[in-house]
Amino acid sequence: MAGELNEDLFRITKLGASHPPEPAHCLAVQALHVHYGAICALADVSFSIGCGHCVGLLGQNGAGKSTLLKSIAGLHTQISGSLTWRGQPLSAVRREIAYLPQNDQVDPYFPLTVRGLVEMGRYPHLGERGRWRALDTDVVDTAIETLKLGDLQGRRLYQLSGGQLQRAHIARALAQEAHVLLLDEPFAGLDEPSQRMLGEVLRELAANGRLLMVCHHDLKAVPDLFDTVLLLNRRLVGFGPVTEAFTPEALRNAFDAPPEDVHV
Ligand code: ATP
Repeated sequence: MAGELNEDLFRITKLGASHPPEPAHCLAVQALHVHYGAICALADVSFSIGCGHCVGLLGQNGAGKSTLLKSIAGLHTQISGSLTWRGQPLSAVRREIAYLPQNDQVDPYFPLTVRGLVEMGRYPHLGERGRWRALDTDVVDTAIETLKLGDLQGRRLYQLSGGQLQRAHIARALAQEAHVLLLDEPFAGLDEPSQRMLGEVLRELAANGRLLMVCHHDLKAVPDLFDTVLLLNRRLVGFGPVTEAFTPEALRNAFDAPPEDVHV
């Protein structure tokens, strides 16, 4: 599948939806603080990462992983700090960033087909008159092909498995021509073949120049899925390439004690 996927992603590249990893394409978060009323969910988080990476966001329940994704997605208002992508405030580059919530936060009974969901990715590109163009159909077709959703495109979302629903949301992000994909626990509840397929999709997307930030709980799978890890415990307690930052000490800081079943 990897070869076919590459070919499809190359076609999207030709349509302008992807790009080779580019040093100037950098997500920079500086001194981020996020509060929910009196609750401090994130304190003084700073990091920067270029495109072409698949980053695993790790930490115990309540560590602030979803809060970080939602802050980058612009879904939080009570935040302070600086967040930029390609040197611009995130509010100026919204359509380059796609947020994929946890499956259980998506209303499966929303009356939408897979194709309808993917077409929604084009809405930010339609301009003031909202005219649908042949190019929009091409981009939607390519995104659907890329995620191997051709046979499922007429199905309602509630008729999909968890893995198929994740792929449909990723196809929407590709149709949006998003360069930064924020995924909240996309592997939760997937069986092994679906996890493998999704892992391959994410790696290919990163290899083709996108930046993926992925909340994740299964520590054993980390070295297979991600090239970079970001460990949170309300503060940033570790960040860097998996080979350097995914260490027992970092896990102790993130989880208070290293999980016994993890060998790094
Ligand atoms: P999990 O692994 O359980 O999904 P997480 O690392 O994603 O956790 P967050 O959901 O970001 O953690 O939550 C961080 C902190 O903020 C927690 O203490 C949580 O209770 C709190 N929190 C999250 N959302 C809200 C909200 N809408 N209102 C109030 N507090 C919230």
